[in-house]
Amino acid sequence: MLATTERPRGVIERFRAHLPVSAATPVISLGEGSTPLIPSPRLSERVGRDCRVWVKYEGLNPTCSFKDRGMTVAVSKAVERGTAAVVCASTGNTSASAAAYAARAGIRCAVILPAGKIASGKLVQAFAYGATVVAIDGNFDDALRVVRELGSRPDFTIVNSINPDRIAGQKSAAFEIVEELGDAPDIHMLPVGNAGNISAYWAGYGEYSEAGLAATRPAMVGFQAAGSAPIYHGRVVEQPETIASAIRIGNPASWEMATRAIRDSRGAIDIVTDDEILEAQKWLASKEGIFVEPASAASIAGLFKCCDPARQPAYPFMQIPEGSRIVCTVTGHGLKDPDAVRFATATAVQPTEADVLRAIGF
Ligand SMILES: *Cc1c(COP(=O)(O)O)cnc(C)c1O
Repeated sequence: MLATTERPRGVIERFRAHLPVSAATPVISLGEGSTPLIPSPRLSERVGRDCRVWVKYEGLNPTCSFKDRGMTVAVSKAVERGTAAVVCASTGNTSASAAAYAARAGIRCAVILPAGKIASGKLVQAFAYGATVVAIDGNFDDALRVVRELGSRPDFTIVNSINPDRIAGQKSAAFEIVEELGDAPDIHMLPVGNAGNISAYWAGYGEYSEAGLAATRPAMVGFQAAGSAPIYHGRVVEQPETIASAIRIGNPASWEMATRAIRDSRGAIDIVTDDEILEAQKWLASKEGIFVEPASAASIAGLFKCCDPARQPAYPFMQIPEGSRIVCTVTGHGLKDPDAVRFATATAVQPTEADVLRAIGF
């Protein structure tokens, strides 16, 4: 047995007072949350203007994405209600997380996925945790429609972000940032898919500000992939396309909530291309030592776009004010989607010192 002080604290134990749980709620946790907020000197230097940038590395959650923050609450509440199975549609990370927390709880998990569209690391996770995986001929939006239909059964609980317990748990990332910085940042940037996370952060910042725990709230700036940008264009995208599969969403479930968050925070929504995303992914890994999946790199690609003087006239947000404190959330680990990575492959050489030195370039 661990002593109480040594026990890892998950999102529910750490933020119980801010979550829809009671003493009667069983805590299904894998020690999620409390991820590093990494000061990023090279990013800060690239932004310039005396700005400071931190990266909130959500790939270090138990299933390697931020989805665990909401899933601990959603699955705990589902168990409290006596549900037999959790069900979700997923671009990959929701299913990985749902499968893990269902396994932990000892209940069933069914995941509905668009066939052939899931990053290999995420699919491996769903199978490893013992979920029942159903692939459909359709995209994520079709999968979510089927899940909404299944959710009307009393013995199923939907654990997509249309489940408010998910959003409640995801607020915890904003709480952690305020606690660590001593206040909210000036600008918070993150990728946007179904738009639950941007809504959750804004709710979290609002709650801490109302409780007197933060003096300010940030401008929320979201980035969609150019081929999959319904909020940016103001219309549903029937065939969303991007290498960033976690944000390949044509009809976001939390569209209205996100629009309010962006408006009320005086933030913005913008787009980044797949090339910009992959470039940012590579840059962040090689310059800061932080390896993230393509969707996550959208926040970094977006930050670069903000700082590019050539683009600023057309840019809807603003010039980043001097001295801004900026947090970029990177949502998932790079190993989730190894096939998307554009890095060189190693060619074999003879096993001699001379050959190896030559290969190293010395
Ligand atoms: C789910 C997910 C997103 C998108 O978050 P939304 O809440 O749907 O906007 C972005 N990146 C990763 C890695 C994700 O898993």
